[in-house]
This record gives sequence, structure tokens and C-alpha cells, in this order.
Amino acid sequence: MKKIVIAIDGFSSNGKSTMAKSLAKQIGYIYIDSGAMYRAVTLYCIDNHLFNGDKLDEERLHNDIKNIKIEFHLNKEGLPETYLNGKNVESDIRSMEVSSKVSIVSAIPFVRHAMVALQQEMGKLKGIVMDGRDIGTVVFPQAEMKVFVTADAEIRAQRRFDELRSKGDTQTTYEDVLENLRARDHMDQTRAESPLVKADDAILLDNSYMTIDEQMQWLLEKFKQITTN
Ligand code: C5P
Repeated sequence: MKKIVIAIDGFSSNGKSTMAKSLAKQIGYIYIDSGAMYRAVTLYCIDNHLFNGDKLDEERLHNDIKNIKIEFHLNKEGLPETYLNGKNVESDIRSMEVSSKVSIVSAIPFVRHAMVALQQEMGKLKGIVMDGRDIGTVVFPQAEMKVFVTADAEIRAQRRFDELRSKGDTQTTYEDVLENLRARDHMDQTRAESPLVKADDAILLDNSYMTIDEQMQWLLEKFKQITTN
């Protein structure tokens, strides 16, 4: 069967990574979390003191970007984990500190150009599921299957809050999460460089009231339709 490119875009914390990951596993495709790449660059900026509050030293980042190496390696369960300059940062990039600064970094054009080039390289051989904000519009406008995922902000905040709690974060409140999510939605939709927008040919999936199983069935059905036509 011919391999295709699957682009899954949408708002923050709507479960698209979970969906994309399990879809890739079921159909034997590679999964790439493009958000993890922007998060890794943000972690680099935090660790190297490029931030002064919310003010980023863009000039230094411009100098450093060629030295920021992002890779994905499979863990023991066969799931990809993010490495920044050789170090596993899969857990560090999910912190609230990174979440609260990532939209500043991801709005910078030279950062986007570097990440998009890397993402296109990763998808050259097809057989890939990539999730993000601009995958169907900018990274792979020719993707054979495009899904745009959305869900109510309060539902997304609750899911993200539960996830943080289950990982041992007892500090962050539900309100913090909701506020961060709304701020990121706003920044992602209004930035000048490749804002979050549904591609005209993307299929809309509102998963507010769907279980993970229902979403998987929906996705597999679409995948079958597209690859057998
Ligand atoms: O998907 P995730 O929420 O981990 O992404 C973190 C942030 O990275 C988003 O809020 C957005 O600012 C940025 N991002 C992006 N383009 C992508 C993926 C993520 O701008 N393709």
C-alpha cells in the first residue's frame, strides 16, 4: 500500500498527540511531535538564560540556532522521545515554564524556518504522522490526509490539568492551565508567521465529547478511505 503523509493540526492540549501517536503505531508509520521541537528550542533558551522575564534575546538565539540539535529516539516502548543536543528532554519540555514561553519562541520567523526545514526532511519518505499547528498549511501542504482537531477550552484545560497531576505536579491549578491554554491559543492564532488556521482541505474533528477509542475509529476510517481510493 502506498505511504502517505498525515497532518494533524489544532489547538493546544486537545489530545492530538495521543491520537497521532496511536494512529502511527496502528498503521506502522513514524510519529513526529512538531510541538516538541518548539518546546526544545524554548528549553534551550531558558537553560541558556536567553530570557529576561518574557523578553527573549532574539539576536543570541539567531546566533545559537545552528547549534541547537533536535532529534527523536525511540524509547523501550517504541515511542519517540525528544533529545536536545544529545540529552533526553522529553519530560523537561512539558513543564509549565516551557509551556508559558513556547509561543514567544514559536512566533519567531527564523525559528519556524529552521523547524519547518527539519520537519520536511523528516517527512521526505512519507509514512509519517506529524502533529502541530501548521503541518497541513505550511510544512506539508500536499499531505494526503489532513485533520484539524478542536475541543472546548475548558475540556482541554481539565485534560491537561489531570495529566499534570498524574505526573506529580501539585502546584499548578486548573485556572493556571486554562489561562495558559487561552493565551497560547490566542498567540498561535494571531501571530504573523504561519498562524494556526485550518487548511481548506482538512477534515474537522471536534473531540470534546469523544472517547479516545471513538477518535481512533474515526481516524482509521478516514485513513482507509484515503488510502484505498
Ligand atoms: O503541541 P504543543 O502544545 O506541545 O506545542 C507547543 C507550542 O509550540 C504551541 O503552543 C505553538 O506555539 C508551537 N507550535 C507551533 N507550530 C507547530 C507545533 C507547535 O507553533 N507546528
